[in-house]
Amino acid sequence: MIRLGDVRVHVLSDGGFALDGGAMFGVVPRVLWEKTDPPDERNRVTLGLNVALVETAGKRILVDAGIGDKWTEKERGTYRIDRSTTLLDGLARLGVRPEDVDVVVNTHLHFDHAGGNTRLEGGKAVPTFPRARYVVQMGEWEDATHPNERNRASYLEANFVPLAENRQLEPVQGAVEVAPGVRVVPVGGHTAYHQMVVIEGGGQTVVVPTDLLPTTSHLPLPWITGYDLFPVGTLEAKRRLLKQAAEMGWLMLFYHDPRRPLGRVREEKGRYVFDEVST
Ligand SMILES: [Zn+2]
Repeated sequence: MIRLGDVRVHVLSDGGFALDGGAMFGVVPRVLWEKTDPPDERNRVTLGLNVALVETAGKRILVDAGIGDKWTEKERGTYRIDRSTTLLDGLARLGVRPEDVDVVVNTHLHFDHAGGNTRLEGGKAVPTFPRARYVVQMGEWEDATHPNERNRASYLEANFVPLAENRQLEPVQGAVEVAPGVRVVPVGGHTAYHQMVVIEGGGQTVVVPTDLLPTTSHLPLPWITGYDLFPVGTLEAKRRLLKQAAEMGWLMLFYHDPRRPLGRVREEKGRYVFDEVST
């Protein structure tokens, strides 16, 4: 756990999964990315699912909800889904019940961020966090509910339609404070309305860029995933964020990093270097 004045941030894990390495690193040749992220026999690289729980002013906020449990055996195999640790177990260890969560921020609605939004009850998907408001950019909601051939595989209705049915969806537009010290900031790139989360307290800042910077391997500016719909938008947002984070000494939480979720970046000889910070 990290303390930022009165704000507390816990880093929890919803297990892990694996995606094609080529897709994860876009235009970067395999001879480069296989050194930092060795692929398995099916060319997949290991990814984490690091979910932040923020406690501020008596409120509990989750930054994304992990991949969840609504998976068939076949899908578990395809994505090598690892449930050896889960978000709900991590919350329980802190004494937090699902009904104690006040806000779930979805940075976007892809299945590896929104899967844990809902769970199966008698074969039907229902919100995992029955009291929470789920904060999503309005444009992301529109795109997720009107998918095209390119993004359809990432948007699974069971992960988000039940939120609207239960009147727990809170669509927002632009930068919004969702709780004292917790802000969402649209950054685009990965999806048109992808948002990052900025947590501030006691003069310190933690940024959760999620898929703007999925892992510490993605620190070099051109290392951008092939999934990104607007890679040049990602590039410019990354350039700004890394410069600011290095200058200001912000902590960064890397949602998909399988080994080193939290740390700071600094510039050294024109490139960004990562220093891990333990929680
Ligand atoms: Zn992701």
